Amino acid sequence: MNFESQVVHAGDRKRQRSGAVASTTPISLATTYFYESAAKLDRIMGNEEPGFSYARYTNPTNEALEELATRLEGGFGSLATSSGMAALQIAFQAALVDRNHSIVVSNAIYGATVELLDKFLAPFEVQVNYIDICNLDAVEKAVAKYQPGCIFLEAISNPLLRVGNIRELARLAKGCDAALIVDSTFATPMLLRPLDLGADIVVHSATKYLAGHGDVLGGLVVANEGLHETVRALARISGPALGPFESYLTMRGMKTLALRFERQCQNAKALACWLAQHSGVERVYYCADPNHPDADVIRESFAPGLFGAILSFEIRGADKGKVLAFMDKLGMIVPGTSLGDVHTLLLYPQMASHRNLSPKMRERLGIRENLVRVAVGIEHIDDIKADLDQALAAVA
Ligand SMILES: *Cc1c(COP(=O)(O)O)cnc(C)c1O
Repeated sequence: MNFESQVVHAGDRKRQRSGAVASTTPISLATTYFYESAAKLDRIMGNEEPGFSYARYTNPTNEALEELATRLEGGFGSLATSSGMAALQIAFQAALVDRNHSIVVSNAIYGATVELLDKFLAPFEVQVNYIDICNLDAVEKAVAKYQPGCIFLEAISNPLLRVGNIRELARLAKGCDAALIVDSTFATPMLLRPLDLGADIVVHSATKYLAGHGDVLGGLVVANEGLHETVRALARISGPALGPFESYLTMRGMKTLALRFERQCQNAKALACWLAQHSGVERVYYCADPNHPDADVIRESFAPGLFGAILSFEIRGADKGKVLAFMDKLGMIVPGTSLGDVHTLLLYPQMASHRNLSPKMRERLGIRENLVRVAVGIEHIDDIKADLDQALAAVA
């Protein structure tokens, strides 16, 4: 089945015992399940037979969503979690349980992930080594030096939209028995399938493109055969399960992922071209740029014709005061911190995702004071342009 059909059908329409088939998966709120025979429940509790026993382990609504995610990412199995951060914590812990307690990690990742690593893994004797993940020579040296148990990157970095070479990173990971974990939130499985390129675990903040409407917090861990059982065993104990209602909403949102994301990518491409010509804009960062530093990797790994729906740009001559004034002038565009919603969102990295970095560190990462990030929505492109145009004019 093609992607557009899978998002609509996979995981859904399980036959009930009565023979009836619900056209969409129901919300199963029960915490406890039992069977005609106690022996069957015994086998299920012992993990010898698949089935439902207790909601922390799994339930029919989550199972449907997990089946959908597994299909879209081409994994062995999935876990639906209560947030993207819960998904990341499970992924790191599962990867490191039997491996060297050392991580080689991209220095351009989500702020909360940095805190998770530095404040809550490093104290448990996990050595965390940050690196420019697009510099493969540097990664190779770091891998030789630290013998990591895990290599981690975001498929598309925030906010400068660098794209790591997952195929090459997977090769380096295999060489030292490290698990390669990719946070693919910005990419979605429509743009990129990290497991096909050799990654071991893909993590999503389902809060973003997958659920897609700014009304659900959730996460997904999609793993290969070697790691899926560890992911599930850890989740059975630590209990990060997504609630059934959120699970339902996520799956409902995902049915339109192909339509939404295609429009969002189209809008982003048009917007990037328009901004590049705008007198109030100094520089645009977008994956379709032929001069993008990772253009070869993008051509090789992204779905044809799609370049993602996030772009960043620098407002000419703006300091922090001017950027804030520009944000206050926005009419339709939401000046909020998330991404992946149907509405266009504009974020100021210095205020949000990169707030806790020193000005020197931001400068080293190339994140300037006049940089804003746009997660482009599904609105009419002319309305997005018009809103940015009047806000830019107001601070010119
Ligand atoms: C939002 C986000 C997360 C965290 O997800 P939550 O659902 O907010 O917990 C992790 N990684 C990336 C890339 C994100 O954008």
